[in-house]
Amino acid sequence: MARVCSSNVVRILTDPSDLIPADSAAAKTKRIVEFSDEVKKCLTLLKAGIKHIQGCEGFPCTSCLKSINDIVTVSRNSKIDRNAVGDGLGIDTDYCKMFTYTWKKRDMLQKIEDADPQKDLSHETTRMFTFYIELLGSAMNFTDQSDYFRLQMEEDGCLSLIVDWFLHLVRDDKAMNKWVDDMMFDAMNMFDNVCRKVPSLAPKHHRAVPAFQKFSESKDSMTQTKAVMILAKLVKKEEADKLSTDYICILTLLSDLKGCLENPEHEKKTDRKTSIEKIVTTITSSAGELAQAIDDLTINDNNKQLVVEHGVIPILAKLLQRDCSVEEKTSAANVVWRLAFLKENKEKLRKERDIIYNLSEGSRHINEKLRDACEGALFEINKTTDVESPPGAPHSGPGRNQRKVSDEMLNDVAKEVPSYAYDQFSEKLVVKHNQARNILTKYQSNYEEATRECLAKWTDRSTRSVADLHDVLRAAELGGLIGNCN
Ligand SMILES: [Zn+2]
Repeated sequence: MARVCSSNVVRILTDPSDLIPADSAAAKTKRIVEFSDEVKKCLTLLKAGIKHIQGCEGFPCTSCLKSINDIVTVSRNSKIDRNAVGDGLGIDTDYCKMFTYTWKKRDMLQKIEDADPQKDLSHETTRMFTFYIELLGSAMNFTDQSDYFRLQMEEDGCLSLIVDWFLHLVRDDKAMNKWVDDMMFDAMNMFDNVCRKVPSLAPKHHRAVPAFQKFSESKDSMTQTKAVMILAKLVKKEEADKLSTDYICILTLLSDLKGCLENPEHEKKTDRKTSIEKIVTTITSSAGELAQAIDDLTINDNNKQLVVEHGVIPILAKLLQRDCSVEEKTSAANVVWRLAFLKENKEKLRKERDIIYNLSEGSRHINEKLRDACEGALFEINKTTDVESPPGAPHSGPGRNQRKVSDEMLNDVAKEVPSYAYDQFSEKLVVKHNQARNILTKYQSNYEEATRECLAKWTDRSTRSVADLHDVLRAAELGGLIGNCN
């Protein structure tokens, strides 16, 4: 059973209600007026194409293919304001209605699903596949770019249709051919964009869980990883067992995240070849989104162990550094918070001075979500676990804690007390605040040495036993360190 703290669920991204003002018709009109001439011209062209597709007798004819290709080309063109084009497609065109209209052509999808992977597609089926893969490609790109587009896709039922299709693929339990694999991959990415950017929509598509469970068994590591990332957004907290994943998926996620951090933009582009040579799907992952995925996945206790075993801690340390974005830091702090629920992780994290330092910095940040995440993480890391030895264990016995504290023990404590706890701890050692600050200045903010001096003042005043030290640690909410001084 996963140990999940309800206050542990912190979402970074805003809900649609925050994104779209209450007077949404007026907001939409206002948005359209803002568009540049370039965007307006582009939308006029795309609109004509959409209209053609919706009325075409010979779908998918050459004009249909040209129209959908125009849309996907714009969706890949980083030189145009794609956020505006996406907003415009959502607000001011029938793109989403065209999406549902064409997706309901079951016989065409069926032809692609039934195609023999050993043979080439027929001319007719190639046209259909080309249309659908470009339709999905454009939807994938614009769901990444535009709020209005995402919300319109939901409102017009496109996402629901896609979920139906996912479930249909799984239900038939038929081996999927490479063309269906390609379409599924793009559809999954589109779905992921929506769930990631509008988290409140994810629970509405909870019925898709069995499909993503199945897709997460895929042999293709990109498909597998994406499926697991989506699954983590869909499952309810009490279904954390459904997120048991294997180490390959964790490795892929962590290595992608590392890859992002090596790039100044904190992004990583990965190309996925499709079964048609000229079509390549490019997936851009960002460090923030991957950290969020790890946060989602670590509601599962197995994953809490797996990610630590496979090196998440140094990556989290990097994500918490000053120059990272608030989103990245918040996700990283949330991951640390979750990881610390496991005792063995707690102990590892306590030794990570950089992480502790940056969490304490973050706990004073102006951003509330970052602050909450950092405070939660620090609290969980420092929470006392069951550290008393069981009866009969070596060294246990009456009077054990009445021994005098040793210098060694005090050195260890000074090393382990996190810098953020310095004020509180020195206060419990009955060192006045001003004095504690002066000591810190004397050691040029070396917290370890300053803490050691406060401890020395404390033992100078009276003979102190191990039990006394435990009491002081507990009083300073550092009970977790008791295990280090027995
Ligand atoms: Zn046509």
